[in-house]
Amino acid sequence: MDFGLSEEQRMVQDMARDFANKEIAPYVEKDEENHYYRREILTKMGDLGLLGWSIPEEYGGNGMGWMEAVTALYEIAKVHTSWRLSVSGNCWGPAMTINEYGTEEQKQKYIPGLVSGKNVGSFAITEPNSGSDVGSMKTFATDKGDHWLINGTKMWISGGHTCDVGLLYAATEVGGGAKGLSCFIIDYNNTPGITRNPILGKVGMWTAPTSELVFEDAVIPKENLLGPLNKGFQICMWMLNNTRMGCATGSAALSAACLEGAVQYANERTQFGKPIGKYQMIQQQIAEMKLEDEAAKSLVYRAAWLKENKLPNQQATSLAKLFGSNAAVHGANMAMKIYGSYGYSTEYPCGRWLRDAKQFETLEGTSNIHMQIIAKIELGYQPNR
Ligand SMILES: Cc1cc2nc3c(=O)[nH]c(=O)nc-3n(C[C@H](O)[C@H](O)[C@H](O)COP(=O)(O)OP(=O)(O)OC[C@H]3O[C@@H](n4cnc5c(N)ncnc54)[C@H](O)[C@@H]3O)c2cc1C
Repeated sequence: MDFGLSEEQRMVQDMARDFANKEIAPYVEKDEENHYYRREILTKMGDLGLLGWSIPEEYGGNGMGWMEAVTALYEIAKVHTSWRLSVSGNCWGPAMTINEYGTEEQKQKYIPGLVSGKNVGSFAITEPNSGSDVGSMKTFATDKGDHWLINGTKMWISGGHTCDVGLLYAATEVGGGAKGLSCFIIDYNNTPGITRNPILGKVGMWTAPTSELVFEDAVIPKENLLGPLNKGFQICMWMLNNTRMGCATGSAALSAACLEGAVQYANERTQFGKPIGKYQMIQQQIAEMKLEDEAAKSLVYRAAWLKENKLPNQQATSLAKLFGSNAAVHGANMAMKIYGSYGYSTEYPCGRWLRDAKQFETLEGTSNIHMQIIAKIELGYQPNR
């Protein structure tokens, strides 16, 4: 594994950093305050190719892979972690999964809009009573001969009420559990029978919309089944193993933002006649943050490298996601302590960092679920895909 970035990767890094500083940074606090989703940022990300990783160029992909993707995403998430969701919501979720499992017609119809940012994407797995236990989902797709009829409720769907196109996982076999799920492509703008409700009052991620989706006799064209019937669980796990890199990269980037902020503050804030950074206890906190920040970033690059080289990477992805989540929560907590009272004020970003960091412990597999994946692979109970 080469730890140095190639010239092309450096250019991608510079471009993404420049974009995040110019197009995202000026709006972060204002949009947070107003819980405002700035749609045009997604369009600009698409224009710059920031949504087209590992997608063939014939469908609008940017011709670059995992190493460039995590390098760019890291720069964006460091400025505002909400925007890391768009890469998973558009590219690593629907576009990449359609590219892997879709028919030629599905690829041509849906991928270009997602990678260009013309359309907002999503993927809907979770339900009010089905979270970690994906196989227990109740949303059902009934085969009506010439179409599918979908009924059920999805919960906590990122971009659910703002998206144009998304993947929906639903049961297609009564009592089939994980073996009776299938995946569908949903055109949200042209499908009657879907009610989309924003979930308000979230702890964090205030500029990233999250939604409840209610399907009541929603008619889905027959050709919108993605991949084989009843293989939805495998498709879902394949997809999550990609989208989890969004959480891993986003959490590593958030821990880096906390460290950078804490270092600056520790050098500026003076107490007892010297900068607080001169005190050993603050140095210990900075050292712990640095250790976790470096380790989180290394795990992200290791998983990305394995993916790039088409080597087994499920355990590496879970390690990066789990460790990154811990590093982000710990880093945000430490930053708030180092900033003292100012950390508790909305004048500084510590509150946002802490609120946003907590998401990583839950979504796309809770920390418990990732510990199980890591241990089961280690113990030889399941293969490392
Ligand atoms: C901001 C946000 C965005 C989201 N975006 C999406 C999205 O775009 N699409 C989507 O489909 N979902 C999304 N989710 C949902 C998210 O993926 C789920 O919340 C997550 O999978 C956990 O499910 P749950 O909340 O129902 O928790 P549960 O599964 O009910 O878990 C509750 C607790 O029990 C523990 N637990 C459960 N089972 C076990 C077990 N077998 N062993 C040990 N411990 C266990 C968990 O670790 C957790 O601590 C989002 C959630 C949030 C908060």
